[in-house]
Amino acid sequence: MTRAHDVTQIPLARPQLGEEEIAAVAEVIRSHWVSQGQKVAELEERFADYVGARHAVALTSATTALHLALLVSGISSKDDVICPSFSFVATANSIRYVGARPVFVDIDPHTYNLDPSLVEQAITRATKAILVVHQIGLAADLDALNQIAQSHGLVVIEDAACAIGARYRGKLIGAAQNLACFSFHPRKLITTGEGGMVTSHDGQVAAKLRQLRSHGASVSDVARHQAGGILTEVYDVLGYNYRMTDLQAALGLVQIRRLPGILARYAAIANQYTRALGDMQEVEVPYVPEYATHSYQSYLVRFTTRCRTPRDEVLRRMVARGISSRRGISPIHLEPLYASSSVRLPATEEAARATMFLPIFADMTDEQITFVVDSLKASIAQS
Ligand SMILES: *Cc1c(COP(=O)(O)O)cnc(C)c1O
Repeated sequence: MTRAHDVTQIPLARPQLGEEEIAAVAEVIRSHWVSQGQKVAELEERFADYVGARHAVALTSATTALHLALLVSGISSKDDVICPSFSFVATANSIRYVGARPVFVDIDPHTYNLDPSLVEQAITRATKAILVVHQIGLAADLDALNQIAQSHGLVVIEDAACAIGARYRGKLIGAAQNLACFSFHPRKLITTGEGGMVTSHDGQVAAKLRQLRSHGASVSDVARHQAGGILTEVYDVLGYNYRMTDLQAALGLVQIRRLPGILARYAAIANQYTRALGDMQEVEVPYVPEYATHSYQSYLVRFTTRCRTPRDEVLRRMVARGISSRRGISPIHLEPLYASSSVRLPATEEAARATMFLPIFADMTDEQITFVVDSLKASIAQS
């Protein structure tokens, strides 16, 4: 691999994978137990220990994690669930899976997360839950949101798809009492190819999640195997097949060992960007409130009114230089699927117009960071 290639073809994100992952997956293949088993149980234990939750239940994605989290929380048709629109479409889709209605509430323009005061105003008799997103790895204001939920008798579920390793008031996301749903998609900090996790402090809820992910069976595959085929499962609820495999979990076990190093590298890259761009009048760097430790799953810059070059033109120029930048998040309420909700969300719409992702991934070199910074400055300045 030449250096020129290295510097001028920069992806937006790239998982850190190596020989250890290959060996771990190979070991599972050699064992012949390739579906859900001991490796999944081990990953669940590691994950729960890491975030500081009593239980963790592995699923096939954050999307299926959100689906089951809403289901075990008793959310169903006739219920409204408050969520942000400045998120990935899966946030709102999961609410639809249980027959409930997503009610989009605007974000704080600085944090890109739900604005607690607007959440409070949006609560009606039909509101049953708040689906809080910790967008791009920055914790939402959990104390404020939990307090609002408590005073109105609402459930809080956390969409922590981007928030592995992110902290709220020093505690890792997942340590709070709410169900929190994580993603192991390659676009996030650590990956299992596809995969997700729900954390909970409640053993009964965890057991229910395990039953629902496995067709509703009252006995797990491992328990049945260990009983030598004597145990038979009973089906008394409508379940799903949302089982992570041991192949994925073996990958995840290596990835979770890498996590501290990955988080440190993301923070270092983000700091380098912020130092290099912080003085520019044309862009605003990410805002981090005192309560949060950003995981920088993504690094989002916002163009100010001082920037004369339109955002999409800056994007085109960056792409022409071999840097795969992306515009910010597309608001869900503007997608055709959700167009019937005629809600206006000024902060969300403005953030979508004025923001852009810069590349960030663990193996990014200092030269690549410098090249991105120089290219951004040149793309803005060029007339
Ligand atoms: C990525 C993402 C999801 C979906 O995660 P999957 O594991 O791909 O299902 C949900 N919500 C948010 C905020 C995300 O960023």
